[in-house]
Amino acid sequence: MTKPRVVILGAGFGGLTAARELRDHADVTVVDRHNFQTFLPLLYQVASAGLAADHVAHPVRAALRKSGAQFRMGSPITVDHNNKTVKIDSSEVLPFDHLIIALGSATADFGVKGVNEFAL
Ligand SMILES: Cc1cc2nc3c(=O)[nH]c(=O)nc-3n(C[C@H](O)[C@H](O)[C@H](O)COP(=O)(O)OP(=O)(O)OC[C@H]3O[C@@H](n4cnc5c(N)ncnc54)[C@H](O)[C@@H]3O)c2cc1C
Repeated sequence: MTKPRVVILGAGFGGLTAARELRDHADVTVVDRHNFQTFLPLLYQVASAGLAADHVAHPVRAALRKSGAQFRMGSPITVDHNNKTVKIDSSEVLPFDHLIIALGSATADFGVKGVNEFAL
């Protein structure tokens, strides 16, 4: 039997964990605009010069090596739910049986002036 094809958008904590968990059950392709994952909990250490920036950026391909998942660097442009495909900005079209969207979140600044410009 062929395994289901799973496309995971986002190689953050959620996307990478899903890829590892699906290792034996699916043919997985992970898409992210960066080829590294930023370890967000330690960003404050970079901001306060406790760590160098490359200490909190880990290569996605290395993280996926044992999972057997494929990696594509890029951003999704369109999702075609009828044909079950994702087009990424390299123009590659990725077919899927299941799609996992793990693109993170956007911060709500609740309209507080200055937050958007000056805070993470
Ligand atoms: C400064 C900071 C400190 C934190 N500290 C902690 C902590 O101590 N403990 C804790 O439990 N949680 C902490 N968190 C929260 C934790 O980091 C998040 O809950 C977690 O990262 C969410 O995982 P995720 O996979 O949903 O999204 P993310 O980790 O944000 O991953 C999303 C991925 O999607 C990619 N992506 C987004 N948009 C696109 C696009 N258009 N095209 C291609 N790729 C895209 C991004 O590059 C990223 O790799 C912290 C967060 C921050 C910002």
